[in-house]
Amino acid sequence: MSKHSLAAQVTVDLTALAKNYKTLAALAPKAETGAAVKGEAYGLGLKPCITALWNAGCRSFFVARPREGADVRRILPKARIYVLDGFYTGAASYYLKHKLIPALISADEAREWAAKAKGAPCAIHVDSGINRVSFPIDELKAILAEKLKLKIVLLMSHLASSEEPGNGFNQTQRQRFAEARTLLPDVPASLANSSGCFLGKDFTLDLTRPGVALYGGNPLPGHPNPMLPVATLEARVLQVRDVPMGEAVGYNSTWRATRPSKVALLGAGYRDGIPRRMSSVFEGKASVWLGGARCPIVGRVSMDMTAVDVTEVQVKRGDFAEFFGHHISLDDAATSAGTITWELLTHLGSRYAYKYIK
Ligand SMILES: *Cc1c(COP(=O)(O)O)cnc(C)c1O
Repeated sequence: MSKHSLAAQVTVDLTALAKNYKTLAALAPKAETGAAVKGEAYGLGLKPCITALWNAGCRSFFVARPREGADVRRILPKARIYVLDGFYTGAASYYLKHKLIPALISADEAREWAAKAKGAPCAIHVDSGINRVSFPIDELKAILAEKLKLKIVLLMSHLASSEEPGNGFNQTQRQRFAEARTLLPDVPASLANSSGCFLGKDFTLDLTRPGVALYGGNPLPGHPNPMLPVATLEARVLQVRDVPMGEAVGYNSTWRATRPSKVALLGAGYRDGIPRRMSSVFEGKASVWLGGARCPIVGRVSMDMTAVDVTEVQVKRGDFAEFFGHHISLDDAATSAGTITWELLTHLGSRYAYKYIK
């Protein structure tokens, strides 16, 4: 598709993705660096992203759903693929067929896997305080006492507040996980997500599982982002309108021109994952990069379009405005919508053209 026929496009810089992988790997030279690629690689497109990660040296991939694991398997026949949802009852043949490694989360799952998996590898996901899908530590103790036939290749746990390095709960979780590790002393251990990679070797252990930082999200909120931007979201200027003082723009007339204004209508709306919270009536801080400046969003974001104030800049029909990328960071865009980078990325709609650059 040529850019002439596009309303909006997402550009994914696969070189930056590979560099981000290497930056994270360099933080823990003794550990293996894996990658969280659930949700189609955080919305950026599974095949190009995991191929770039594989070429950068990544061998362990984490998905949420078994179906996502099968998608990874079709692309990377030799990868280790961990399924964070655990083991769906009755689905052993599916996991075996696609060589998926379930991160087991309960005694029930462990017993069924031991009975049905014919010695195939599994991981154990133990809770250290986040209380999401994972083994309570006592349940893990009990199941290990049953001496099931399990080939456990990884013991993992997940941090609740790793992006706050000073939060004492990180140490609490590290200690609880250390206790769990004494139950399986010979099994490799994994605790760190993106921000966890920055907490030092007590957290990076044998295998890390960064996600958002690979894709350019800032793992150190409040500090300069050590990651390179990977994704750029741009939408076409469909029309530039003169809006006389006192006239309103968009549904429910929530924004009114307080001076003779110029407003550009962009071809991306909430169907495309532009958060409706970017409407000026809500947070009121969202802008796009257009005509060499930040132009504030005005009025309500609607399904297919977003209006921005371009009174101060030179803009014409067919120009492209950046919602995030090199001028407006992913984190700034998410904050301006009252949301987080993860949600902004993974909500991108299906109407974009995706362009991958190497
Ligand atoms: C999503 C996820 C990750 C990656 O988290 P990021 O914050 O995106 O780095 C790692 N581990 C588990 C269990 C996850 O669910």
